Amino acid sequence: MSTTTPQPTLEAKSPYELRVNLGKGVPESDVRSALASGDMGFLHSFTTGATVDGPGVRVVAWTAGCMWRCLYCHNPDTWTMSNGIPVTIAKATEQLRKYSRGLQVMSGGLTVSGGEPLMQNKFVVKLFAAAKKMGVHTALDSNGYYGDRLTDADLETIDLVMLDFKTWDAERHRVLTGMDNAPTIEFARRLAARKLPIWLRYVLVPDLTDDPEDVGKTAAFAAGLGNVSRVDVLPFHQMGRYKWEKLGLEYKLQNTEPPSDEIVERTLGIFRNAGLKAY
Ligand code: SF4
Repeated sequence: MSTTTPQPTLEAKSPYELRVNLGKGVPESDVRSALASGDMGFLHSFTTGATVDGPGVRVVAWTAGCMWRCLYCHNPDTWTMSNGIPVTIAKATEQLRKYSRGLQVMSGGLTVSGGEPLMQNKFVVKLFAAAKKMGVHTALDSNGYYGDRLTDADLETIDLVMLDFKTWDAERHRVLTGMDNAPTIEFARRLAARKLPIWLRYVLVPDLTDDPEDVGKTAAFAAGLGNVSRVDVLPFHQMGRYKWEKLGLEYKLQNTEPPSDEIVERTLGIFRNAGLKAY
């Protein structure tokens, strides 16, 4: 595979760094063969030391590319694959190896987040397989839409799925993300059948995802699965707003405030009443 694109630094202080056009010089044919083989991925960045993206201290690989268009997305620069840095699997593995001992000592691991990691499922599975060989715990942070791209053997490389569940109501989900939630629900059921642990992530946005009835249906579904060991209710914030502006995208949540403490508590209560551990 040929590319003349220089390799910018992979490490970022936080995923809120705006990154654009880093893979722009990569020919389309190279992108296609990279996706097919998984020998190269497109990464927004690597961040280290995170404690909110899975158990223990994590290295997080943020992938580029997402097929959803969530109104509240904090990282719209990850929507486009060409905004990512082209990284060979060898380079990504080498990067991870630097941290592997420390991650083991701190009971942490590797989390692959995005964007939507399963846009690059082959690359992600290869990276997880390499991590497992090093004895590093693996977590996939995904909206689950492309869950059926993962074979049962692929799932063996994943210790935990952090499933980004947006909302239960199908129509509201389409308004919020532009996409259908049935594949996400299906993927969650498949993980449950395999007893693969899920941490459910639920972004709480006033007037969009805080409807108690809708939260109740999500909670009942999650509790019924039997493999959801934790729910994280993530209050909406405006940290990604400047990215929408810089990218010239229309941001519809300009005037949306973070949820009040009362609404956060009410939502946590709904998940807890369903028998789930919610934070
Ligand atoms: S699924 Fe995640 S990355 Fe994709 S648009 Fe939604 S919030 Fe953004």
